[in-house]
Amino acid sequence: MKSVNKKKQTILVIDDDESMCDLVARYLQALGYITLTADDGKAGLMQFEEKKPDLVLLDLSMPGMDGFQVLEVMQEKIIDTPVIIISGVGTEKDTTRALKLGAWDYITKPFKELDILRHSVETSLERSALQEEYKKLQEGQPRAVRREDSDLEKRTVELERAYSVLEREVQERKRAEKAIESERTYMQTVIDGVGHPAMIVLPDKSVMMMNEAGLAMLPSSYVGQDNVYCYQAYRQSNRPCSGEDHRCVLDELIKTGEAAICKHKDILENGDERIFELEASPLWNEDGTLHGFLEVVRNISEDLSMEGQLREHQERLYHLVHHDTLTSLPNRLLLQDRLQRMMVKANRTKTNVAMIFLDLDRFKNVNETLGHDVGDKLLITVGNTLEGCVRKSDTVARMGGDEFAVILDDLKDVKFAAVVARKILQALSKPIFVDEYELYATCSIGISVFPSDSDNVEGIMRCADTALYRAKEAGKNNYQFYTSDMNTRAFEFLLLEAGLRKALSNDELVAYYQPQMDLWNNKLIGMEALLRWKHPEKGMVSPGDFIPLAEETGLIDPIGEWVLREACIQNKAWQDEGYPPVSVSVNMSGRQFRRKDIVELVASILEETSLEPQYLELELTESIIMHDVESTINTLKGLKKMGVKLAIDDFGTGYSSLAYLKLFPIDHLKIDRSFVFNISSDANDAAIANSVVVLAHSMNLKVVAEGVETAEQLEILRKQGCDYVQGYFFSKPLSAKEFVPFFEPIFR
Ligand code: C2E
Ligand code: MG
Ligand code: MG
Repeated sequence: MKSVNKKKQTILVIDDDESMCDLVARYLQALGYITLTADDGKAGLMQFEEKKPDLVLLDLSMPGMDGFQVLEVMQEKIIDTPVIIISGVGTEKDTTRALKLGAWDYITKPFKELDILRHSVETSLERSALQEEYKKLQEGQPRAVRREDSDLEKRTVELERAYSVLEREVQERKRAEKAIESERTYMQTVIDGVGHPAMIVLPDKSVMMMNEAGLAMLPSSYVGQDNVYCYQAYRQSNRPCSGEDHRCVLDELIKTGEAAICKHKDILENGDERIFELEASPLWNEDGTLHGFLEVVRNISEDLSMEGQLREHQERLYHLVHHDTLTSLPNRLLLQDRLQRMMVKANRTKTNVAMIFLDLDRFKNVNETLGHDVGDKLLITVGNTLEGCVRKSDTVARMGGDEFAVILDDLKDVKFAAVVARKILQALSKPIFVDEYELYATCSIGISVFPSDSDNVEGIMRCADTALYRAKEAGKNNYQFYTSDMNTRAFEFLLLEAGLRKALSNDELVAYYQPQMDLWNNKLIGMEALLRWKHPEKGMVSPGDFIPLAEETGLIDPIGEWVLREACIQNKAWQDEGYPPVSVSVNMSGRQFRRKDIVELVASILEETSLEPQYLELELTESIIMHDVESTINTLKGLKKMGVKLAIDDFGTGYSSLAYLKLFPIDHLKIDRSFVFNISSDANDAAIANSVVVLAHSMNLKVVAEGVETAEQLEILRKQGCDYVQGYFFSKPLSAKEFVPFFEPIFR
């Protein structure tokens, strides 16, 4: 290609961005061109008229007269000086319009390589020179006057060929620009589809492209600016991200070569806190080099505050569930937990723990004759008096009604328990003044001691209870230590155990079924299998009276297996009879759930009975699943994988960690019936039920309320958004035969 004499050529740069004008001018001067600059269209045209430059570099968007208007004037005046558009991120429409108005070429700012600019300038000048020469030849201008005709022809052919090569090059360049433009349009469509602010960022962290959501977030001072950096765009900061609070997600990505996520915390001017989650994914060139990043910005402040609210909710729920509303003392649940902890500590320090159970003598009389108001005040005063009799580190709890309990820990000598008991008896023997009444709240006290009486919570509580019973029998207002000969209950247990062993082989066990209804359409959604023991002498024994014993003796293994099998057989039989399929819930005890082969056992019973897994639900209490979380998760996952449904039973009475609950693949939470019982009269219980519903729904779980007995309870649960209900309001647990009418749509 013929070289052009650069020294004499003048280039006019029209751009409102002073620094860009300056940069381009200096670059062109370094290449040997003379440069002129103008900062808007009008000034540019005046310069053009006056200096007649050989080439014009023109920005499109400028205040006042913009690039398009300049092109229109030049087109009108039939000026064929080459014009190259240099413009910021533009649309394909802009490019086409500029080219139609006679622009020769189109380069987008920021220039990734100034070489592109040089190439375009040289090509255009060369093409312009050839065009000029060609025009003169065709017009027969004096340039060829003294030449031989054949020379002239040869030169003409040569010029024509060179010109057509240039034309082809220009076309190719336009095609390439168009391909880039359509890729750009495609990328724009892709990021516009992202719901959050998203941008394409180049390795120097300048923003190449943004979606609508991103533009909406962009401070107005940056709109229309050619070079915006990502940290300016979403953080309005002029400093690149760095440090722990503002880790640069792009640097993280460059380090690993993989998509990266960072969280940023900003305190806004008004003091509000805003938290962003930034996610960067790499965009690779065909040759494997990094082209840039796709950066998505999510404002997660609200998600986090929601999580905080949930946690607050759970803490409130925890307090409500573990304290007595009237006296604010710890309740039975918290007492058991403290006892457990103190036992562990006593084991280590080789000390004793005493459990004192205390029952007010004749409290019923106060309630009946002076009313509940006076009774309540008396209970509060008794609570305070008890706290005054013990150390701060001891626990005073209200067990319900007129029963209180005290745990004394770190006892070097058991006789101190007797000292405290006497102190309590003495303190309570003094008159208590409530309103205008002078009351005497004498009490009976039973004491048991860890580790001599029992080595577990239930045992210690049972022993204290037995001792209390004896104290009352012995004439009230006294205390009794537990002694082993008191334990007639243990003897009863032995008898019960022998009977229970026979119950299995004698076919004395029966499964009853209680319907579970959809609160919103009164349709049957399932039934809970509840075990009954038809005792040959005692009649129907309820599970509460023998399941704990079965657990203790290990008999729960064969019994639990029996219920599971029986419930599956029955449910399958109902399905085979043509009743609409629903799921049957079976209760699992802790010991049963922790069997190593529990997943296999459930699978083999399902296979044996041909019941499809989705029609079986297993109910587990909080204390069971929170026992050994890691193995719980494995077992639950194993069951879930099989397709079996899972429910947490008696929810609210145990200890659940929200963090763990979220990990368990559970379907239902069952609100314990103790909360439903007083839901219409006790604001505390109503608040607990409501909290369970909110908590469950936030984790996408459905809520089943247990023990619904009245239409009023049902209505409150409906208002709270509960999903399903179970209880005497619909039906008591029924034998399989009695249950059948529930399949009929009579409740619609
Ligand atoms: P659960 O699983 O919470 O069962 C619900 C209990 O509430 C049942 O007592 C049921 O009869 C009772 N109930 C239902 N609706 C009402 C109502 O409206 N008002 C009142 N007051 N009570 C209602 P049930 O049958 O005596 O069972 C007691 C507990 O024994 C069960 O509590 C469960 O923990 C355990 N249990 C029952 N069957 C089995 C079993 O097959 N295996 C195991 N491991 N435990 C079982
Ligand atoms: Mg249950
Ligand atoms: Mg329950």
